[in-house]
Amino acid sequence: SRHESVALVVGVTGIVGNSLAEILPLSDTPGGPWKVYGVARRPRPDWNAEHPVEYIQCDISNADETKSKLSKLTDVTHIFYVTWALRFTEAENIEVNNLMLRNVLQAVIPAAANLRHVCLQTGTKHYVGPFDMLDKIEWHEPPFTEEMPRLDCPNFYYTLEDVMFEEVAKKPGVTWSVHRPHQIFGFSPYSMMNLVGTLSAYAAICKHQGLPLLFPGTKSVWESYSIASDADLIAEHEIWACASPKAKNQAFNVHNGDYFRWKQLWKVLAEEFGIKEYGFKESEKPLSLTELMKDKGPVWEEIVKKNNLKPTKLEEVGIWWFSDVMLGTDTVTSSMNKSKEFGYVGFRDSAKSFDHWINQMKSHKIVP
Ligand code: NDP
Repeated sequence: SRHESVALVVGVTGIVGNSLAEILPLSDTPGGPWKVYGVARRPRPDWNAEHPVEYIQCDISNADETKSKLSKLTDVTHIFYVTWALRFTEAENIEVNNLMLRNVLQAVIPAAANLRHVCLQTGTKHYVGPFDMLDKIEWHEPPFTEEMPRLDCPNFYYTLEDVMFEEVAKKPGVTWSVHRPHQIFGFSPYSMMNLVGTLSAYAAICKHQGLPLLFPGTKSVWESYSIASDADLIAEHEIWACASPKAKNQAFNVHNGDYFRWKQLWKVLAEEFGIKEYGFKESEKPLSLTELMKDKGPVWEEIVKKNNLKPTKLEEVGIWWFSDVMLGTDTVTSSMNKSKEFGYVGFRDSAKSFDHWINQMKSHKIVP
């Protein structure tokens, strides 16, 4: 093949998957030229179809379907696993996420003779525990570093790593890397956790109804230093790990490398949506978007119609529970030193990153 490398992006319409789909095919991407296969369940959306990727509709929680569709991809050299499933309890998360990853690896590893590397994306919950345990377990002292021992509590990120170690060991020479981002700033109306899209939808509703853009979180999160991970930066970090001989069989934190305060980004959000009145208002209980936005479906329909937006349902664009968790839980820090020591020096300005992804949402006509 004229391609040096062949990527299989599992979750190609997700918040990082869509960035991988854009970046991998570029002529100057490290390790390339890349041919790219991309997997997701739904039909391909038009905002993803811009990228030169061979799109495969496949539900990876179905073992037979995954085997029949993915074992045909015998030229795959690198797997980017950027998907997941969200269930009610962590025991259920472990079961379904293990099944999905195992289905993919058991379909591709035996079939792809030239497979070289598997990138697994997890996240900072590796260090703080699953969502339902956030205030209940004791962490190691932040900033979190990659070699810290696992916490003594169930976590689907731990078992995903273990599934990957087990499956990769079946084929000598195949290497792996684990990537642990913070809250991701990126573009994907199909993401299960898209903070920028969620806050943009909230701002659009405030603007439309003439309401002030109040911060739906705690004073501590409003004031303190926060960290984010730009989706393009994560994609670059994952591609770096594939191409760098040193970065094999290692886990890495990945974030923008700077700090911001939500009070600063809130000004960016307000200005992007032309809202003059905005800020934090002291109240007994922090505002919750889940509550504030629960009856706004019809308002969203009006906004979509008035501004000629792509037809979307409010619950697809506004993931209120996720914003409530991110803006309602004290911020944590992790260290980028290991990535730098291994040779990765990429970074982003978080305020610019935030603004960039708001504009991506606008230019794709998801928000006004
Ligand atoms: P997204 O939710 O943005 O995207 C998921 C992708 O996978 C979509 O393309 C989706 O498309 C596809 N998908 C979902 N289920 C299946 C399935 N059964 N079969 C095939 N494709 C499927 O993913 P993220 O990048 O957010 O998540 C990847 C990892 O990153 C997770 O472990 C997450 O916890 C972690 N993370 C995410 C953060 C964030 O802010 N988003 C922050 C830190 C970590 P479709 O629905 O059409 O199938």
